[in-house]
Amino acid sequence: MKIAKIETAEVNIPLVTPFKTALRTVNSVNDIVIRITTDDGQIGYGEAPPTAVITGETKDSVRCAIEEFIAPGLIGMEIENLEGIMGKIQTSMVKNTSAKAAVDMAVYDLFAKSCGKPLYKVLGGSKGEIETDLTISVNETEEMVKDSLLAIQQGFRILKIKVGKEGQKDVERIKAIRQAVGPHIKLRIDANQGWTAKDAVRIIRKLEDMGIDMDLVEQPVNAHDFEGMRQVTSQVDTPILADESVFSALDAIHIIRERAADLINIKLMKSGGIYEALKICAIAECWGVECMVGCMLESKIAVSAAAHLAAAKGIITRADLDGPSLCSVDPYTGGPSFLGPRIIMNREPGLGIIGMNQ
Ligand SMILES: [Mg+2]
Repeated sequence: MKIAKIETAEVNIPLVTPFKTALRTVNSVNDIVIRITTDDGQIGYGEAPPTAVITGETKDSVRCAIEEFIAPGLIGMEIENLEGIMGKIQTSMVKNTSAKAAVDMAVYDLFAKSCGKPLYKVLGGSKGEIETDLTISVNETEEMVKDSLLAIQQGFRILKIKVGKEGQKDVERIKAIRQAVGPHIKLRIDANQGWTAKDAVRIIRKLEDMGIDMDLVEQPVNAHDFEGMRQVTSQVDTPILADESVFSALDAIHIIRERAADLINIKLMKSGGIYEALKICAIAECWGVECMVGCMLESKIAVSAAAHLAAAKGIITRADLDGPSLCSVDPYTGGPSFLGPRIIMNREPGLGIIGMNQ
């Protein structure tokens, strides 16, 4: 089974409602999808969202990175030579992690197909189902409360609340949502680097003092401010999750050694795919640091790859894989089933994606 062809295309899927964080507002999932065809006619799928504010990549840069830098070196390589292929992808250029992730997941898709098993089983996993949270965009408080109640009606038991623009107002938002949803819904707070370390400590302590329980607070301060992350982590009781601060396995080592976070958010688009994500899992496991698997604004191909990783690894105890739930349509057939909070893994080989409807 040799790599014969690597093609790129574009998908544009409108969101149910605009996605708003401290960093950006987005109305649709406008991603690059890739298809790798082998000499015996097997097809592997991959996807990369151009998340300029996080990875620095655009649609054009993702396409160019894949077509001109990553793909040419892979043509003719045996899929069974996973180690060789991954080495080539990672050394084809620096950064461009989402472009690398798209190719990496398509290769893993084919590798699992060559084994005749779903990817999560090939990676050693046995969880047939995982639970995801749902993101509540940052808006006026009443709208966020309304969105939170709607999410619960849809069966979600964990909400990821986007804040980080206005300290005092963020406290009011979280307090109002907690009062509305009751004590049994888990709240994950994502500030997307929007606070200073002092703000973060003040805000989180205030919420703690009011008795508002939070599952975690994600990336309270700037990605590069490890000292700020360390300060916040040491001065509050709520677990702090590093997201934008950790792209690679080396970043994970740094953040863990400096005790700059309690938890790590793995995203394939930051790590450059499953290969590097597995290294992060191994490092985190050594230190007993639990991980979450998250996604950018991705549709079903990329989120399926992340779900397979989450279903495979014990150190991944949380999933933030709501991309398909935010999309107004699903343009693909096959793959895991995304039923509100439940992600039920496919039994078919690979990622399970069979094709595209559009
Ligand atoms: Mg985040």
